[in-house]
This record gives sequence, C-alpha cells and structure tokens, in this order.
Amino acid sequence: KKVADRYLKREILGEGTYGVVYKAIDTKTGQTVAIKKIRLGKQKEGVNVTALREIKLLKELKDPNIIELIDAFPHKGNLHLVFEFMETDLEAVIRDRNIFLSPGDIKSYLQMTLKGLAVCHKKWVLHRDMKPNNLLIGPNGQLKLADFGLARIFGSPDRRFTHQVFARWYRAPELLFGTKQYGSGVDVWAAACIFAELLLRRPFLQGSSDIDQLGKIFAAFGTPTSSQWPDMIFLPDYVEYQYVPAPPLRSMFPMASDDALDLLSKMFTYDPKSRISVQQALDHRYFTSAPLPTVPNKLPRPA
Ligand code: ADP
Repeated sequence: KKVADRYLKREILGEGTYGVVYKAIDTKTGQTVAIKKIRLGKQKEGVNVTALREIKLLKELKDPNIIELIDAFPHKGNLHLVFEFMETDLEAVIRDRNIFLSPGDIKSYLQMTLKGLAVCHKKWVLHRDMKPNNLLIGPNGQLKLADFGLARIFGSPDRRFTHQVFARWYRAPELLFGTKQYGSGVDVWAAACIFAELLLRRPFLQGSSDIDQLGKIFAAFGTPTSSQWPDMIFLPDYVEYQYVPAPPLRSMFPMASDDALDLLSKMFTYDPKSRISVQQALDHRYFTSAPLPTVPNKLPRPA
C-alpha cells in the first residue's frame, strides 16, 4: 500500500524523538528513503500552520553535508518527512571497536560536521540537538546532519517518551543554566563534545542529570569565573557553586595534536559570546595542518 500515492513502506528503522522512522521506496524516483512520521498530537493546528512554513525553509537547505528533505506531507493526522536514506551514523562508527580512526579521519568527520552547521547557521537555523546519532553517513562516506531545525519547529522533544536522554551530554552550559536566548553557540558546544568523543572513543561529559552534567563540565574545564563569563550570573537557573580548578586539557586528551587541542579549547569556551563560531572553527589551522582530512570515500565504516 502506497503512502501519499508515492511511497512504498518497508520495515521500521527505529523510534526517534518525534516518532517512528521507516524505510520506504520512492516510486517516483526508485530511490530508497527514510520517512519520519511525526505525531502531531494536541497542538495540531499550530503545528500545521507554522511547521509547514518552517519545513519549506528546511527543504531549501540543500548541501552535501545536510540530509536532504525530499518531501513533507500530512497523512492520517501525522506529519511525514521524507529524507534520503543513509546507511549508518557517526555513533556506530565511534562505538565500533574494529574501526581505527586516524587523526585525518577524525579531522574529516569534524570538518563535515562543521561544514553542515555553517550552512545552517548562515540561514539562521540552529540544530539544537546535535549528537553522534544525528550525524548520518552515506555510502560514499559523506557525513550529513539530520534533524536540523526540528527542535525549533516541534519544540523540545518530550524525553519521557523516548530512550534518548543522552542529548544532555552535548548540552552547552548556558542551556543547563536555563538561558532562553541561546544562539548558534549551543551547536558549537555540541560539536566540541562530538570532537572530544571522536578523540576518546567514548562520550566525554556523561552527566546523569542536568546538575551532574554541569558538575562534569566544571570538573573538566574548571568552574567559570565571572570575568570569563560576565553574563552567567543573570541566567535563570544560575546557582553559586564551589570553586573547582581546571586540569590541563592535555591530560584528558593525551593523543591529540596541539592544533586539535587549541581548536577544542576554543569550541569549549564557557561564554557563548566568546566561543568560536562555526566559520572561525572551519578556518582554524587544525584543518590545514598535516595530516589533512581524509577524503570521505576513504573513511572507515562499520562492516
Ligand atoms: P532521534 O530522534 O532519537 O535522533 P531519529 O528519529 O533521528 O532518532 O531516528 C530514529 C531511527 O531511524 C534511528 O535508528 C536512525 O538510525 C533511523 N534513521 C533516521 N533517519 C534516517 C535516515 N535518513 N536514513 C536511515 N535511517 C534513519
């Protein structure tokens, strides 16, 4: 049975933050696609009006490092988003113990992540939910950002209904302090966490609650001072905390190059106003110093 007279449903790929994702064949093109079925729930009317306008914007975000939104349509009270089908994701790569990631491989994965982010930030679209399993990998090794802008369109996902509580590990300190006026810096912080995870081969800051997440950040970088981050004390959930000194970054990343550590520390800057932008990060010498980023089709992938 065809959906919207065009897509032949195949198996379920998984349950995501917003609903079920299934594999399908696009009979118009023969292409394999992934269809994300989004429960519209109570706020149906509101979502239909604003979401469809925003989705139109996402459709226009075409870039080699952003997953293509092929189609979007309502069907039986659910919104269906049709994306190009992707073989695997960065989480699977990081977790696969049979895969060795060279410094050039890590550089390539980070560069593709930042390139995708740069395109979106230029159009004032934030991701807000960056994590390794949202970085999909295609057959030629290209990394593509998925779920772009969905957080803004559909609101913060209700974590009670999902297994996905791990997004906390990628949260910027300003979000943990309850800021309501966050900007593109939240994606830079998350990209830094992913960079660290590529280097360590395990999630870097694994908080068990939002408070514990801040504790993990403080333990890694030292407690922020008001000179480092002047606006911090005005944030809604700011609480005074006990001083913790910063260990040398080098001690946590013994294998990283000096250039890698320099970029990492600039991405992990506390004050979002001083944090490096995605474009500045792409221009960092880390990407032009040896070893150069591995070409995508030479990157190691799960068997
Ligand atoms: P989450 O919201 O938890 O990040 P998603 O909704 O993005 O999860 O995805 C749910 C499942 O569907 C995941 O297992 C993911 O691998 C799979 N999936 C999502 N998008 C695609 C795609 N474009 N191609 C192939 N599989 C996908």
